[in-house]
Amino acid sequence: MSAQVLDLTLSELSRQLRDKAVSSTEVTRAQLARIGEVDSKIHAFLRVDTAGALAQSAAAEKRLLAGTPLSPLDGVPLALKDIFCQEGIETTAGSKILAGFKPPFDATVVAKLKAAGAVILGKVAMDEFAMGSSNENTPFEKVRNPWDLSRVPGGSSGGSAAAVAARACFGALGTDTGGSIRQPASLCGIVGLKPTYGRVSRYGVVAFASSLDQVGPMARSARDCALILQTIAGHDPRDATTAEVPVPNYLEGLGGDLTGLRLGVPKEYFGQGLDAEVEALVRSGLQKLAGLGAELREVSLPHTDYGIAAYYIVATAEAASNLSRYDGVRFGLRSATASKPPQSLREMYLNTRAEGFGPEVKRRLMLGTYVLSAGYYDAYYRRAQKVRTLIRRDFEAAFQGVDAIVGPTSPAPAFPLGERVSDPLSMYLADVYTVTCNLAGLPGMSVPVGFTAAGLPVGLQLIGKPFDERTLFRAALPIEAALDLSHRGPTL
Ligand code: GLN
Repeated sequence: MSAQVLDLTLSELSRQLRDKAVSSTEVTRAQLARIGEVDSKIHAFLRVDTAGALAQSAAAEKRLLAGTPLSPLDGVPLALKDIFCQEGIETTAGSKILAGFKPPFDATVVAKLKAAGAVILGKVAMDEFAMGSSNENTPFEKVRNPWDLSRVPGGSSGGSAAAVAARACFGALGTDTGGSIRQPASLCGIVGLKPTYGRVSRYGVVAFASSLDQVGPMARSARDCALILQTIAGHDPRDATTAEVPVPNYLEGLGGDLTGLRLGVPKEYFGQGLDAEVEALVRSGLQKLAGLGAELREVSLPHTDYGIAAYYIVATAEAASNLSRYDGVRFGLRSATASKPPQSLREMYLNTRAEGFGPEVKRRLMLGTYVLSAGYYDAYYRRAQKVRTLIRRDFEAAFQGVDAIVGPTSPAPAFPLGERVSDPLSMYLADVYTVTCNLAGLPGMSVPVGFTAAGLPVGLQLIGKPFDERTLFRAALPIEAALDLSHRGPTL
């Protein structure tokens, strides 16, 4: 049974668990065995909580057998990006500086998953502090793309995407500050959703750039993402930036017909730099949407080109402030080089940060400190905030005439490991279509549209109005039904 069960989508598994056609303990055991088989190839997991997962699945099984499941996620094995605090489980945000940090509490989203009965398999890999687009910014083993082990899975939620694609979990949580859910979802052939800023609590999520960070689901179908979002969304008194907007039923009344749906196609998303095969696949996705009744309209987002520059100023500035808390006193690592004992508190701080942070994090902390410093603040930070406003207005204007925006998620399919690490700028350019959505606070989703000739998956991006994730699900469900890629997995 094991192999076939693991090929189900989360929604299908959920139904089978409730129908008692499969048991949560059996599925969880099969899932742990699968991780044992494939993880030495893809390196998605930083740590697997075998005992915890088995205990949670045994408890879920009792509820399911009694016919009293807590939610559609009851008994379903999921993975967590290592950015979410989980009580008693080491949480490092992919950094040596947090080595050994075991949070005394659960992030709100983790508490919600537990209350829904989900089985938490363990923590998956990420770029250090979520800074990256390839999972190569890590002191640990680099994650491989399950479709081609010589290529990157994308980042920063690359461990989540690789684990979902490789059937090593049924779904995962990721975070997205500038594309970190959508870009790896696109590169690994799964569905990933960054909800509206304020839709999901960030309490207990290691902060990168607080005005951009958002938590979201990653899974093998849009329906699966909807079930996870349903569980984690909502106002949280512990996160003042969560909105008091009611959480709708994300799947209610969604059918296959898209008549009346107006989709905007930004002309700036199909210009220079877009890989020809990606463009062809995305355009075929647009035709599918039109065939289902959607009306395609050209729109313009004139400030798209300034997105990357504005993002890398705002994000690094906020990171420089957020990461100042890692000083060797409060969490994780404290430098204790025996040969070079610190002579002062300041030296202990400096040694700890020099040893604990990797090169990309240091580069960003320097950039962020620079753009906030007296004399440069107006030239960089303030100007970037103004550009951010212009980008938001571009979207507001476009949304006057359309219900959602469609285009590519990433300009290229998965690239080879090592290709871009030594050239940060080329790495940053991978985020051209994703960062504007975070700058404007909008929801964005990546859905698989097909494969390149070399067999690499490609995603189509849907961007919605604030708090209108439902329209994204509405458009995504029929595309995935038409293509049925959720059951096409990599061979490992
Ligand atoms: N790739 C982008 C960066 O490196 C986005 C990261 C993210 O969304 N966490 O900052």
